[in-house]
Amino acid sequence: MVSIIAVLVLGGGLIVTTTMIMRQQALSAGASAAKLIEPSVRDVVPESSYTTGVLGPEAERDLKRSVTEFSEQLVGLRLWNADGTLLFDANPSTSAPFPQTDPFDRAVRDGEVSARVVTITLGATDGSGTAGRQVTALSVYVPVTENAVRVGALEVVLDYTETDEALREAVQVVATVISVGLLVLWLLLFRTVRNASKRLQTSALENARLALLDPLTGLPNRRMLLDRMRRAIDQAEEDGTGVGLVLLDIDRFKDINDSLGHDRGDELLVQVAHRLRAALRERDVVARLGGDEFAILLPAIRSVANAERLAQRVRNLFNPAFNLGGLELHVDSSIGVATLPEHAVDASGLMRKADVAMYTAKSHRVGVSVYSPDEDDSSPARLVLLGDLHRALADRQELVLFYQPKIALANDQVVGYEALMRWVHPTRGMLVPDLFIPLAEQSGLIHDLTAFALESAISQLARWQGEGRETPVAVNLSAHNLTSPQVVETIEELLHAHQVRPDLLEVEITETALVADPSRVVPVLEQLADIGVLVSIDDFGIGNTSISQLRDLPVARIKIDRTFIADLTGTHPRAGSEMIVKAMVDLAHSFGLEVVAEGVEDPDTEGLIRALGVDQAQGFLYSQPIPAADVPPVESPGPRVRQSGRRGPRAKPAKTPQAGR
Ligand code: C2E
Ligand code: MG
Ligand code: MG
Repeated sequence: MVSIIAVLVLGGGLIVTTTMIMRQQALSAGASAAKLIEPSVRDVVPESSYTTGVLGPEAERDLKRSVTEFSEQLVGLRLWNADGTLLFDANPSTSAPFPQTDPFDRAVRDGEVSARVVTITLGATDGSGTAGRQVTALSVYVPVTENAVRVGALEVVLDYTETDEALREAVQVVATVISVGLLVLWLLLFRTVRNASKRLQTSALENARLALLDPLTGLPNRRMLLDRMRRAIDQAEEDGTGVGLVLLDIDRFKDINDSLGHDRGDELLVQVAHRLRAALRERDVVARLGGDEFAILLPAIRSVANAERLAQRVRNLFNPAFNLGGLELHVDSSIGVATLPEHAVDASGLMRKADVAMYTAKSHRVGVSVYSPDEDDSSPARLVLLGDLHRALADRQELVLFYQPKIALANDQVVGYEALMRWVHPTRGMLVPDLFIPLAEQSGLIHDLTAFALESAISQLARWQGEGRETPVAVNLSAHNLTSPQVVETIEELLHAHQVRPDLLEVEITETALVADPSRVVPVLEQLADIGVLVSIDDFGIGNTSISQLRDLPVARIKIDRTFIADLTGTHPRAGSEMIVKAMVDLAHSFGLEVVAEGVEDPDTEGLIRALGVDQAQGFLYSQPIPAADVPPVESPGPRVRQSGRRGPRAKPAKTPQAGR
């Protein structure tokens, strides 16, 4: 609207100005024409007529003739002397005998020619009663000068009708051209401005969208999730329901990214996003929090169990392999669940609790984990447990090592034991390492804990040595123990103090510990190998070392992680896992490494790993981890270990449910 008014004002101004200029030009053209007549008047009028105020008949006749000689455009001619006395009038009937004061004065006094448009009546009443014709005329007053003295003024009246009409037409054309031009200009400007403002609006909307959505998957981002979470919490408080939050992290996503490239990694994220979105209800919010982390907000849930069931369902969405550019890829996820009001009272609390649960799921490799204060660094229960661990390490009564045999598949003989720590907690019962090793690692107690494990295992070795048993014992070291050579000194001192041969001690380090900081870990391993201690890589296959990398390390053995072994048989054998194990075995052998299979639970698995060429096996099929006192005496090696060593229900792991989870 404002632009229309501006254009109208501009158009009006242009038209008025142009019209004025054209009119001015027409007037000065008329004035020039009138000036041409003045000399011929001066020629026929004697100078004395101006003084006397009377024109002689001869001069009058000459003047009349001159008038007729001029073009038809001349419609009037009047001559006054300087006093304003009319000396001659070509059409006496058309007007009064007086001059127009202003132009007359300007002509006589200032010598100025002035022109203006007037309306006159031609052929006016001469007594016949006929009305005259009205015409538009240009009246021009021209000074008459004799011998440089202004003696009178001449009024030349020119027919202006045609000029006026031409002028009017010109003005119309100009007005039309200006109007159309301005209209076109306005339309162009309007379109440009409208397009620009549309673009601005679109980009503003896009920016707002980007601020709330993840650009890769199009899912809501963390900000939008938090906003939805707050709304869901408000709603749940009104309805008396709860809110669930499920956090999901893709296992080994970094490996996938590193080995297949970031494009494939991105593709995987998009496919995961798609599966999640397709499987959930419209009102559940699926968000990507960044990296390989996704979140699912469950508004208005009725129980923790419901949220957990949904989390299980989400985990199953990962069962069909992902197809990344023709490559079939099996991917797992770790999922944490927390709910409000059970675990948190607000959005940020819920987020933190679900995060703790997710890390528990990841570190214990349990797939889905519901928030538990035991796993929470900052929860009061965890702080109490930390205090208890301090005490347990100080008085050394509650921590014990259990031993689990390793069997040579070639002859079914026990070829070693793995020492696995147990904490007999005064109130919580027997605790498995997963419940306190991470706590020890985070709090720095791991060094004392490892020192205790080494001391306990080496003194046991000394006792067994004394009984004539020379079976090696493997102690697990944490990544934290391997960043300084301190652990090598401790081992040397203990071996020396207990008079134990170094080749009876083995250490197991996880593959992830090795890859975390190889520049510090490798020298420590080399020193261990130098003093004659054998090094095994534990949980092999879940980190991202290749066997060829191990060739240059002082490593004697790999222990294939039990998830690969579990995939071999059972109700859901995983396609391709046999090939993976076979490839690991063949490669390890080609580099002179021994292969141990962890987690062998049944004869079928044993048959299979034997066929695949695995050297040693460890698992519940042979024995659960047992106290040293329960290890069978050395003089009865005859019977197969499987019969003599098995304790308790075979399928039930040492992690007993009453162990405090
Ligand atoms: P790991 O070194 O891989 O030990 C093998 C784990 O598998 C043990 O769990 C053992 O009880 C379990 N296992 C053995 N056979 C079977 C089987 O047939 N089926 C199944 N499902 N599990 C089986 P555990 O004793 O709970 O220990 C867990 C982890 O804790 C160990 O994994 C080791 O990494 C760590 N750990 C244990 N003791 C110590 C220790 O003294 N120091 C340190 N730093 N870590 C330890
Ligand atoms: Mg181990
Ligand atoms: Mg292991």
